Amino acid sequence: MTEALILPRIVPLLHRSAKAADAVTARVRLAVEALVAPGGRIDRHRLDAEQHAAHGLAWCAAYAETLRQVALWAERLEAAGALGEAEALPAQLLAFEYVSQMAGGLPMNQGEMFRPTDLGVSTDDLAPLLAELRPGASQAVKTRIVALLEGVSGRASLEASGLDETLEAIRDQFTDFSRTRVAPFAQGWHLRDELIPLSLLDELAGLGVFGLTLPEHWGGAGLGKTAMCVVSEALSRGWIAAGSLGTRSEIAAELILAHGTEDQKARLLPGIASGAIIPTAVFTEPDTGSDLGALRTRAERSGGAWKVFGAKTWITHAARADLMTLLVRTEPGTKDHRGLSMLLAAKPRGTDAEPFPAPGMSGGEIGVIGYRGMKEYDIAFDGFEVPEADLLGGQTGKGFSQLMATFESAR
Ligand SMILES: Cc1cc2nc3c(=O)[nH]c(=O)nc-3n(C[C@H](O)[C@H](O)[C@H](O)COP(=O)(O)OP(=O)(O)OC[C@H]3O[C@@H](n4cnc5c(N)ncnc54)[C@H](O)[C@@H]3O)c2cc1C
Repeated sequence: MTEALILPRIVPLLHRSAKAADAVTARVRLAVEALVAPGGRIDRHRLDAEQHAAHGLAWCAAYAETLRQVALWAERLEAAGALGEAEALPAQLLAFEYVSQMAGGLPMNQGEMFRPTDLGVSTDDLAPLLAELRPGASQAVKTRIVALLEGVSGRASLEASGLDETLEAIRDQFTDFSRTRVAPFAQGWHLRDELIPLSLLDELAGLGVFGLTLPEHWGGAGLGKTAMCVVSEALSRGWIAAGSLGTRSEIAAELILAHGTEDQKARLLPGIASGAIIPTAVFTEPDTGSDLGALRTRAERSGGAWKVFGAKTWITHAARADLMTLLVRTEPGTKDHRGLSMLLAAKPRGTDAEPFPAPGMSGGEIGVIGYRGMKEYDIAFDGFEVPEADLLGGQTGKGFSQLMATFESAR
């Protein structure tokens, strides 16, 4: 009975969905070009003014690409005789949902909808396709998907990762760890709003989570960034907070490896790799998120040290951390990224009761349901001192480009 829930000729239908999404994207592109590049070249002032439309185009293109990849995946499975309900039903549900959003509106966030029709792009031609797809998104289909998902763990067609043997072995190891050491406890930690137990951090350190991509010379495992993704994903299956635990170590390690002095590498990298040093990333400010180049927390050179003044927010795992990668403005009078520098600022480990037991530094938990288990903090700096030797690479004015290079290295 349930096989009947799969739409007829599902693979060609998925390909047609991808093509239709492509066609809408092409029309949206023309409309956006007319807005931001009337003379053939992008005018950055117009692009700035038309961010909503440009952002919408990016979403359309991402939907079209997702549909294309799903269609190709389903085609490969069908050729291998492995396209069953567990694969076909989610694929057809996705196709209906994405195509209907392209016809109606794409929710780029809760308060910002992108509608191709707002740019004068007609989506009327999607109606017959949507009529074909609609029966594939019925409540019966959704109910069946839920039932199927309970039984598909380990199902090759859904789990096939294309990873090599080493990464597969790593994935299996961390999936097991996640199932036995994280998942059974995660809900309790969440409800009690507790920090992840240090014993779990020790176990993860023992498994090499904090030095995955560092060269062996520095105590790491010398693996590539894909290993980092594999481990983060496997741990996130147990709990998002456990899954993202390694990311701050990764950011700090990459910053120091690529830009640090030999002294900074020798002092910090082995401790980061072993988990003895827990880093936290201290970039965002109350008025500065995405536009990091505009941040205002400043550091003044004084008597062999940098004195830091300003406010940071949303700082994950800050109380318990030992090391802050702290982005500050060291060039007074500058307003953009060129005046920023990165400090590798040591701090004493804090507790819930006293998160920042250091002179010139105070703050507290923001108290939101973000990464429970690590918690986010506001931090105020009022003359907090960082030795001059802890300026990353010994160079001022490079903090922003050092950080962007670090993020780029993860691609
Ligand atoms: C759970 C959690 C943990 C965090 N942990 C840390 C941490 O450990 N350390 C740290 O430094 N920060 C941390 N952050 C902060 C995070 O990095 C910022 O929230 C993020 O950089 C976005 O900044 P914002 O919140 O000010 O949003 P904004 O920059 O104000 O963005 C708001 C919206 O506008 C859009 N937008 C912004 N600029 C543009 C543009 N030019 N064009 C088009 N759209 C745009 C964004 O996509 C977004 O939808 C954390 C945040 C959260 C939620």
